Amino acid sequence: MPFGNTHNKYKLNYKPEEEYPDLSKHNNHMAKVLTPDLYKKLRDKETPSGFTLDDVIQTGVDNPGHPFIMTVGCVAGDEESYVVFKDLFDPIIQDRHGGYKPTDKHKTDLNHENLKGGDDLDPNYVLSSRVRTGRSIKGYTLPPHCSRGERRAVEKLSVEALNSLTGEFKGKYYPLKSMTEQEQQQLIDDHFLFDKPVSPLLLASDISRPGSAMVLAESGAEMSPCDGEVLWPRDRMHNDNKSFLVWVNEEDHLRVISMEKGGNMKEVFRRFCVGLQKIEEIFKKAGHPFMWNEHLGYVLTCPSNLGTGLRGGVHVKLAHLSKHPKFEEILSRLRLQKRGTGGVDTAAVGSVFDVSNADRLGSSEVEQVQLVVDGVKLMVEMEKKLEKGQSIDDMIPAQK
Ligand code: ADP
Ligand code: MG
Repeated sequence: MPFGNTHNKYKLNYKPEEEYPDLSKHNNHMAKVLTPDLYKKLRDKETPSGFTLDDVIQTGVDNPGHPFIMTVGCVAGDEESYVVFKDLFDPIIQDRHGGYKPTDKHKTDLNHENLKGGDDLDPNYVLSSRVRTGRSIKGYTLPPHCSRGERRAVEKLSVEALNSLTGEFKGKYYPLKSMTEQEQQQLIDDHFLFDKPVSPLLLASDISRPGSAMVLAESGAEMSPCDGEVLWPRDRMHNDNKSFLVWVNEEDHLRVISMEKGGNMKEVFRRFCVGLQKIEEIFKKAGHPFMWNEHLGYVLTCPSNLGTGLRGGVHVKLAHLSKHPKFEEILSRLRLQKRGTGGVDTAAVGSVFDVSNADRLGSSEVEQVQLVVDGVKLMVEMEKKLEKGQSIDDMIPAQK
């Protein structure tokens, strides 16, 4: 952690209540769960790689809340974090993932043929479709805790694996450090590359210290040490028509993304499933399986992404529906969430929204994308009715 004192062992000379962070103004899941007693119980524990409780909670201590989403307020630094700090993570996971219990089992279904429909979302409303997930490579610590050597090793492994893809997945690797400022901005504007850490929150911190970088993530601001050569994580790779992309060393070791213009979510999901499974196979064969277990599904940096890690979403024009008093309620009944189109930190400008699945854990990839496909289809029908000045009262869905 760039500006934490999380590895200071002298802190154990102080009573837990003297070290306990001031969370009185906080509104994130971590702050709700972390009591002085729990802090006392966990504060001298660490994972085999040396990730501590203070490392886990630092992001949530520094960032009391987020203007648009309820943040998680903590991160994992390695696979074992979820075990060693179980007493903190379990209630957070339960809270964030709709009551998911420590004994519950997750489901995986990456068979794209099980998705029903999804090839006919009206492109006059659905401007683009996208499915992404994260993957962590077993045996390496996660981005908030990754050392320089580990980041380079993850990069090397990923480049080798991805370079062996063929056919529609054949692509090129573009390290950020060899791109000009303009090229980077173009990719960000085209939605192909993760944004730079531009939030004042991040810039106010210690971002310019050599050897530090910050990633703005689902859970709020997260920090990840990386090479001094670049100021934010690193690199990405895409196939030749930019419909399949992999980011390396951002919030997760790998972020795998399938996207295209228009409303053919079925095709986007097909490419996602096929490409992702090819990548997993290559890593497995090379002796580097992804982190996965029956309870948490795919193990990722941010607890909000555990399970499938999947966010399937569309950029959709909802000029009328978004002004309807029941818009929020409709989204939540359909188990969907909204963002602005510039990424997680943006509010919607105008009438185009990023609408995606709210769930990640306890249901499968297919089930989550099915909710998006069915929900977006319904919302577009509602939009068309409202355009004609008709009522949508009889279309309000039941709670899914
Ligand atoms: P994620 O965490 O899922 O990657 P972010 O909200 O951080 O999503 O956004 C990352 C980038 O992906 C942003 O540039 C955003 O505009 C782009 N993006 C997200 N969903 C879509 C979509 N359906 N179509 C086009 N671009 C998208
Ligand atoms: Mg993101």
